[in-house]
Parts: sequence; C-alpha cells; structure tokens
Amino acid sequence: MDIARTPATPDGNPEMADAAPVKPTEPPLIRREDYKPYPWRVPEVSLDFTLGLTKTRIRSTMLVERNPAGEASSVLRLNGDEITPVEITVDGQAINSWSMDGDDLCVTLPGESHEVQIVTEIDPAANSKLMGLYASNGMLCTQCEAEGFRRITFFPDRPDVLSTYRVRMEGPRDRFPILLSNGDRVATGEAADGTHWAEWHDPWPKPSYLFALVAGDLVCNRDSFTTMSGRQVELGIWVRATNENGGDLARTEHAMQSVKHAMKWDEETFGREYDLDTFNIVAVSDFNMGAMENKGLNVFNTKYVLADVETATDGDYDAIEGVIGHEYFHNWSGDRVTCRDWFQLSLKEGFTVLRDQLFSAAMNSEPVKRIEDVRVLRSVQFPEDSGPLAHPIRPDSYREISNFYTATVYNKGAEVIRMMRTMAGPERFRKGTDLYFASHDGEAATCEDFVRSIEQGAGLDLGQFRLWYSQAGTPKVSVSLDHANDTATLNLSQTVPPTPGQPDKKPMPIPLRLALFDRKTGKHHGEQLVTLTEAQQSFSFSGFAEAPVLSINRGFSAPVAIDRAVSNDDLVFLAQHDDDPFARCEAMQDLVVRHLCGALSGSLDDRAREQGRQAIGAAFAAVLGDGSLDDLMRGELLILPGETYLSEQMLVAEPAAIHDEREGLKAWLGTTLEARFVALHERATAAGHGTSAAAKGARKVKTQALAYLAAAAPGRAAGLAAAQYDAADNMTDRQSALMVLTGLDTPERTHKLLDFYDRFKGNALVIDKWFSLQSSSLNPNLLEHVKALAEHPDFTLKNPNRVRSLYMPFTGTAQGFHAASGEGYRIIADLILALDPLNPQTAARFVPPLGRWRRIEPGRAALMRAQLERIAAAPKLSRDTHEQVSRSLD
Ligand SMILES: [Zn+2]
Repeated sequence: MDIARTPATPDGNPEMADAAPVKPTEPPLIRREDYKPYPWRVPEVSLDFTLGLTKTRIRSTMLVERNPAGEASSVLRLNGDEITPVEITVDGQAINSWSMDGDDLCVTLPGESHEVQIVTEIDPAANSKLMGLYASNGMLCTQCEAEGFRRITFFPDRPDVLSTYRVRMEGPRDRFPILLSNGDRVATGEAADGTHWAEWHDPWPKPSYLFALVAGDLVCNRDSFTTMSGRQVELGIWVRATNENGGDLARTEHAMQSVKHAMKWDEETFGREYDLDTFNIVAVSDFNMGAMENKGLNVFNTKYVLADVETATDGDYDAIEGVIGHEYFHNWSGDRVTCRDWFQLSLKEGFTVLRDQLFSAAMNSEPVKRIEDVRVLRSVQFPEDSGPLAHPIRPDSYREISNFYTATVYNKGAEVIRMMRTMAGPERFRKGTDLYFASHDGEAATCEDFVRSIEQGAGLDLGQFRLWYSQAGTPKVSVSLDHANDTATLNLSQTVPPTPGQPDKKPMPIPLRLALFDRKTGKHHGEQLVTLTEAQQSFSFSGFAEAPVLSINRGFSAPVAIDRAVSNDDLVFLAQHDDDPFARCEAMQDLVVRHLCGALSGSLDDRAREQGRQAIGAAFAAVLGDGSLDDLMRGELLILPGETYLSEQMLVAEPAAIHDEREGLKAWLGTTLEARFVALHERATAAGHGTSAAAKGARKVKTQALAYLAAAAPGRAAGLAAAQYDAADNMTDRQSALMVLTGLDTPERTHKLLDFYDRFKGNALVIDKWFSLQSSSLNPNLLEHVKALAEHPDFTLKNPNRVRSLYMPFTGTAQGFHAASGEGYRIIADLILALDPLNPQTAARFVPPLGRWRRIEPGRAALMRAQLERIAAAPKLSRDTHEQVSRSLD
C-alpha cells in the first residue's frame, strides 16, 4: 500500500502531514510478543457476490483444516466488523453451534477438516469509512488492507492465513458492465433478466488483505508486456467511463508506460518476473490511501494514475511513476512473500519503498531523487521520531493498525534496508534478496527472516544492526576533525534520544560514507565508508600536510542527524566543490540552517548576521552561475530548508519567528540577487517546454526564481507570475505562477484564481490543487480564507483527497495553523471531530500536527493541548483517533 504521498515543496510547506480522561471503552492493546499461529488453515476460499450498490450479498465457502503448527482448538474464530451472519452451514448442514464474541463469530467444529459456508449482506453505499466493499461514483470497489475484509465477510482476517481464492460476481449488466477481481478471469456468462456474471481465479495463495473486487461502468487502456521468460501479460488500466473533461482514459498513458518500465526494471534489478497472465489497475476517486497492491488487481487513487501536461505537474508525473512502481513491486515484496503479522509491516513497506526509490532514481536523476527522498524523511519522519508518536520501524504494540502506516515504517524502514545495501554493495545485497525470495516464497515472513537472509546471502554480520528494528528515535552523530602531523583524525560520537517507552538506548551501527578534500585543489582521494558502532570512536587518515575539508554522510548513507563542528568557510567550500550531489546540497542546507537558528536564538550580533547572509548569498550566486549544473540539481540547491525541519532544530520552536526569519532571508536573497533571478526566469521561460529532463529542470528553477522575486519585489513578481500563468502550456508553470500569486496582495490573485477554477471546473484532481494552493499560501488572511473554502460548494468531507487538499497543507502554515489566537488549531480539531464518525482513518491522520505541541513555545503549546483534550472528551471516538489523541497527550 502507499500512503498518500506529500512531496515537500519549496514554498507553502505542505506536510503529510495519560492526562486524557480514561475512556470506558479503551480498545485492547495488541502486542507483537503475543503472536500465536492461527489454529486453523484455510487453503481454499470461494466467494459468491450478488452485487448491488445498496445491498450486496456474499456467500463465502471456506475449506478449513486444523493447523498442526497452531494450538488445538475446536473453535473457529472469524473476525467481523459491522456485519452479522445471515446463514451459517458446516459441511452443508445449517448449524446453531455458533456465537458472537464482540465483533467475532465463533463456530465450534468437531473434526479435523470442514467446509464452512457463511452468508452476509452489506450496504456498500452506506460505507463512508471506505474500508471493505464500498460504492464510489456508482461503482463498487474494495480496500481490505489492513482489516477491511472483515467488513465483507467473517474470516480469519490476519496476514498469516493464506488461501487460494475463486470469486464469482453477478449483477445487472447495465450498472456493472465490468466485473474484475484478483488473478485471471476463467469464465463469464449472462442471464435473460439482464444480469451477467464473471468468475476469477487467483492460483497464488494470499492473505485476505490482498483480496479485491471492482464492478462498474469502466473503460480500459489495454497494452501488453512480455516477461523475461516469454510470458505474455495483458495489461489494463481501468477508469470510469465519463466524458467530463475529455474523459479520463486519455490521461492513463503515462501510468501505462510506468507499469511497463517497472516490470522491466524489476526483472533486471531484482530478478523478479510477473506471475499471472493479467495485470489490472483501477483508478478510484474516493480512496483513503495512495494505492493498493491487491494481487493482479491494483486499486489506485486517481491522483496516482491520471496525468496529462494540461492538468498534472512534473511532480505529479514523478509521483505516478513512483507509486505505480511501488504497487507493482509489491507483487513479490508483499504478495508472494507477505507479512506474518502487522508488526512486520516494514518488511513489505520499507523494502518496497526502497525498491520504488531505486526505480525512480534509475528512470530520472539519481541525485535529485535522493535529495527529494531525504527532504521528505526530514520533514515528515524526523518530527514523528522526536514526538509522542515515535515508534520503531517494527512496532511492539498497537491499538489500531491503521495508525502505523507511518513515515517511520515506510521511509525510515527504507533507509534501514538501504544501509544494509550500502554496507554490502549492490551485488552482494542482490544475493541477499535472492535468498530472501527463494527461502520465503509463499510464506508469511518476519523482519527477522529478511535480516537473516541478507546476513547470509550478502555475508554481513547484522547482529548489532538489528537495533535499527527495535529502537525508535533519530540518532544524533557529533562530528569533528582534528589535524596534526600529516594525520587527520575524525572524532565521532552518537546518542539516540529517549522516545516514549524507550528511555535508554544502545549505540547503533551507523555507516557513514566520507571524503576528505584538499583545500587547494578542491579534490579528494576517493570515498571511504566508516561504520560507527560505539558511543564514541575515532578514525585516523594519514597523508594530509594540511587540514582537509570533511564531507560526511555522503548520499545520506545513514538516517541520522549530523552535528558537525565546521566553519562557514568549509561549508561554502563544500557547497561549491563537493562532487557528491547530496553532500553539496547538504552543505548549502547546513549553511542556511546554522544561520537561521543562530538568528532565531539571538546568538548572532549584527555583524555575524551580516557575515552569515553574505556567505549564503555567495553560495547562492555560485549555484546560479555554475554552468556545470543541470537545472534539476540547481533547483534542489536553491531550496531553503522547510519550517518544520527548522523547528526540529530548535529546542523550543516559535513558528511565527521561524516563518519571519526564513521569509526575511528569502527576501534578502531575492533583493541581493534580483537581476540574476530575473535572468534565470527569462532563460528558463524560453527552455521550459516539452517533457525532457532539461525542460523539467527549467520549469523547476523558474518556480524558484519567481518565489525569491515574490519575497523581494512583489510588484515585479506579480507581473512575471501573471504573464507566466497566461502563457503556460503545462500545469507545472500554471500552478507555480498561481502559487506565487496566492501569496501576493494583488488583483491578479483574484483574477487568476477565478480563471483557474473556471478552466478546470469538474476535474476533481485539479480542483484539489486549487484548494491546496490557497490553504498553503502566504496569504495573511489565511484563517478566514480557509474557513470560507470549507463552505465552498465543491468541498466535501466525504472525499479524502478533497479533505486532505484543503486541510493538510494548512497544518504546515505559520500564519494559519500556528496563528497566535489558536484559531488554526481549533479548525483542525473541529475537522477531526466532524470527520471521525464518517472516516476515522482519514480523521486520525490530522492528529499528529497537533501532537507536536511539546516542541512549540508554551503559549501555543497550551492551545494545541487544549484542542487535543477537547477531542479526547468527545462522547464517541473511533479507535483510530482515540489512540492517536491519547498518545499525543501522554
Ligand atoms: Zn506499499
């Protein structure tokens, strides 16, 4: 599964975004150490659906056998959620030896092996949680990960029960002309009364969370792919049959190309071949997540399928390619080898995120991809790791698993596996993954199984490394370099901060790629890898007559925070000379972070402040003038660190002061380098057409130039932005021009916002952008503006994309969310309370921004806490929201 991605953008800063009264209905705590195999096996399941939007009837026939690995029990416990059994038979006989235990159905079975049949009836149109089987725009679709299958029928809804599925669907042909499920279609037929049916069979045993069904009036973009062994695979991307906005079908070509690239890349890079004759993707507009890897039938949020240059930005194109890759790669890392229990979620997600990151890097600019991935990690996962919701990538307990689809499990999980790859090198790492797939194919495995396979296959000792799976918190590494007698000595020390439930930490192995630069030549003598394994360690390097300049954690070889004792001059040197693009970008970031944090803490006098600015200005000028850089990379180097990341660097964060200081630096850079930014905008305007990397790069720096100019010379920027908007032949230019205008007090703002709305009215994905641009803008009246947008006829709480588009970017704004009055916090608390009864999963995702109160100055912190307490006091809260709120108050 892919959580809805939130790219960190240079401006606007969108984010992913027990003092509590004791609840009488505290949901049970589920612990990893309590795992027990299920007492029964369910090798085969047949599902018979009689489809209807408001009433769907399901007859489930399970073959159940005693599991020799489980405890002997005559009770078959089947999970349910908001369903009741209509009919139960065992071996063809109606029985009465069953009972309900909470939501679970318990059936007593006398023998070793039985056929159990259960009939349920559900109302898909009334399912606003979008978990299980639900209606969306007249079609039926499913989302079962993590625990949605139990909302369809009673079943051991846990990932370690693997079954082969046969699915028969029947319904009115006019309403549901297309009937899709997992695997390959084996039969179809039709009746005289206008109903028709289809039967699908998936030969690969899978857990229930990978079940999928889609029925509706759909059209298909068809293509095919021939695998490395010559298997012909029919590919289909399905969208709603609609003619609005020219129809969605024409917007599926980029997704189709991405599927084919992903299939080929996985064969070449990981030796993984597709294993069915059919691979289908369906795009759905009402979807809680980004996309879902159901075997042979991926279901996607439309956001990660539909694109054309008129309506999608370059960032959208990249995100589609990444998410398509991610879900496809799950076919092996998730479907063929699945998870034993949900504590092992990072087994499939961390590994698959790494796979999609490597794929996107191979398809595009590798260094830029790495910088972007680290920016997301720092703006989303680092705050999680330092807050009340911190947890290891393999959590020890949960109350609601939906709350653990986090940046820690996904993004930090990927970094942890990436470190193994760095230590082993790509070839030995591949031997490890080959061994993993070969040893666990068809199994429900654990993170430990994965680590052991890499250990054996790659020949690494990962004994101490396992701490990365059990300890939460971002390690902090202090770095200094001494020089004496031709020898440079690198002194490293590490601390892992305490996190909830983990007051004391052990030192972790931290692989650090480094290079030592000669100050005169600007060159180094090769990169090295050192691994810090103790609390403190030193490493010596001889042959340096003069003190070298240290470049460390190159390529972000470890997901740690580096605190380096280094001069501004050395940072400026690295910002100009470092041949590792990530490290070069990092030197720029450090230069800015150090300056802004110094200014914010009051430790800079006027002279030091001016010197700091001059150093940053010189580094920026060098980047603007460096002819050896491509624009994609230049664009990265020009991005200032985000406000959330900056607030993480402060002991106590004052959001308004951080915002003002950062905007102040932006304005100073815009003023000092105005002529250069204008020239850059001009050059990029001429070059920014088409889909080449160079054109993408030109569009990226054009946006940057406009943003700096807007901070320095609003009048000039408004004119340039309006002209860019009018001349735009693509969404990237149009959106970035509008983004700049929304932050400026100019009549053009109103004109262009109206124009944008009229131009794209009815295209839900673009109207989502219209909401996001406004709710993340630098508009000083943001609070009133967001309240007005919530009353807009196009706003609805029922569509998760729309809810996220209005409110998630807002939670990253200093003048909105963090307004001194506390009004921004109240808006988000009101949202959570209103959304929770409808869609608890999406509601709970808005709790973490409020949960950061401990890191914010006391006045605002009290206001944030008060809103959390108000939510906690609500008479009825979902398990999802209850858990997030009570952990945030702890
Ligand atoms: Zn996933």
